[in-house]
Amino acid sequence: MYRSNTCGELRISDVGKKVTLAGWVQRSRKLGGMTFIDLRDRYGITQLVVEADADAALVETATALGREFVIQATGTVVERASKNSKIDTGDIEIRLEAINILNKSLTPPFTIEEQSDGGEDIRAKYRYLDLRRAPLKRALELRHRIAHEVRNFLDSKGFLEIETPYLIKSTPEGARDFVVPSRMNPGQFYALPQSPQTFKQLLMVAGYDRYFQIVRCFRDEDLRADRQPEFTQIDCEMSFVEQEDVLNLFEDMMRTLFKNVLDVNIANPIPRMSWYDAMDRYGSDKPDIRFGMEIHEITSLVQGHGFGVFDSVPYVGAIAVPGAAAYTRKQTDELTEWVKRPQVGAKGLVYIKLNEDGSTKSSVDKFYSEDELRKIAAGVEANTGDLILVLCGEKRKAQTQLGVLRVEMGGRLGLRDPKVFAPLWIVDFPLLEWSEEDGRFYAMHHPFTAPKPEHLDWFYSDKKEDLERVCANAYDFVLNGNELGGGSIRIHEAAVQERMFQVLGIGKEEAEYKFGFIINAFKFGAPPHGGLAFGFDRTCALFGGQETIRDYIAFPKNNQGRDVMIDAPSKIDDVQMDELFLASTVNEENA
Ligand code: ASP
Repeated sequence: MYRSNTCGELRISDVGKKVTLAGWVQRSRKLGGMTFIDLRDRYGITQLVVEADADAALVETATALGREFVIQATGTVVERASKNSKIDTGDIEIRLEAINILNKSLTPPFTIEEQSDGGEDIRAKYRYLDLRRAPLKRALELRHRIAHEVRNFLDSKGFLEIETPYLIKSTPEGARDFVVPSRMNPGQFYALPQSPQTFKQLLMVAGYDRYFQIVRCFRDEDLRADRQPEFTQIDCEMSFVEQEDVLNLFEDMMRTLFKNVLDVNIANPIPRMSWYDAMDRYGSDKPDIRFGMEIHEITSLVQGHGFGVFDSVPYVGAIAVPGAAAYTRKQTDELTEWVKRPQVGAKGLVYIKLNEDGSTKSSVDKFYSEDELRKIAAGVEANTGDLILVLCGEKRKAQTQLGVLRVEMGGRLGLRDPKVFAPLWIVDFPLLEWSEEDGRFYAMHHPFTAPKPEHLDWFYSDKKEDLERVCANAYDFVLNGNELGGGSIRIHEAAVQERMFQVLGIGKEEAEYKFGFIINAFKFGAPPHGGLAFGFDRTCALFGGQETIRDYIAFPKNNQGRDVMIDAPSKIDDVQMDELFLASTVNEENA
């Protein structure tokens, strides 16, 4: 037996017991002839002590221990003279009788403690060392716990966990596919699934009416902040359901997760908001509703006063930032620069201060009287002491910019407490999104999403305005400004699916080539069905109160999509290239 106890286990009630522990030497120090060793394993840290008058060989071994040596240590549990309330085992220490070095270690390139002195790159390269640190261990424990609760909950509701293949054909989530060359089928490629979307729908056709899977998905996207090329979804699908059934069931799941994992009671029922309201009021389809500061349209209040900028745009909107009237000129200038950054993209910023002394001050005083400014303030529901921030332009664009500004101001005012959880459902999404650039419609969710039955007339219309008005039975689960999950009721009739492809400009042949299998399956008695998927990594990060998902993935990739620990991606040798019938076109210019 390697150990009698773990390093996180022993308490004052164990005093007097003879124990054997095994683990890693976090640090060791000499103090007045005694050697103190912090021994670490997954469960915690226990202090070991070798007395000055211990056996000479033992003292020598203890002295020779380096950081991260793996040892087995035997001794007696004693009460500590100076207790450490910061660790669970802080009341006791182990007076050692024997140390067995199981393995030596090189000196680690950074400190393996709660806070490390290592930068991100070096810690990524030695991820297995970083994973020894308590914060990462807690993150992976949380991830496990949530997965466990998800499985328990869905199992209790009759869901079956069914695996679907990774080597498949292109999926319709709208990102770029990762592809895998097929040796046995020269010149042909598999795609790695962007999601199990088509397979879960085929499982519905097959009669498995409640399916789920905690599953890896692959999307070859430019890695914007905090995305991973491979990530995990809690993927679900149900038959014989309407939107209401899906929302209720997964609302119940989220409530259960929050209760069982964090002991937090989230809103019951979870509020719902249409996509249109979310855009108008928050400038985002994933609004952070932990705070107000809603967007108000003030177009009619500001136009016709000779201010050309406002008069020449279709939309003017504003937010009232509570208590920020005291912002200095320097601060408003900085904000103006901030909204002009490409990430926000506004052309400029107009402000109105409702000073505490009752006066107003704005950057457009020339065009608006005190009285007019007050009318605008009333339109934005602003109070004395508030700073009103105004942006204008094309409606959705200006709203989106205001939405970004709103979140920024919420952050600056400390209104985005990670311990507060404010979920909501966004519903009634438009089915289609027009791309000016490509001159065609794209599916807002994906091409299997059903139009609302009451909008079918518009769906079959040839007019762009009609098609733009079609709403989908699609829904997103949003938490604290993050889209945690999303799904839809699906099209289950082959004819409707064909019309959808037609609207998306996917020709009969292309549809047949890409999705023939599913169109065909729908001809064999496809039940009405729908589902959704939650981003599992993001769920874990939000539960853990963190912004980044990376800590919740054991072996994540960096921003360039690289695993710097194993050094992937990498070249393959010529033999492999030949076997796969591949030739590289990489040269000095495009490498
Ligand atoms: N497959 C979708 C996604 O990954 C989710 C769904 O529609 O169920 O976003």
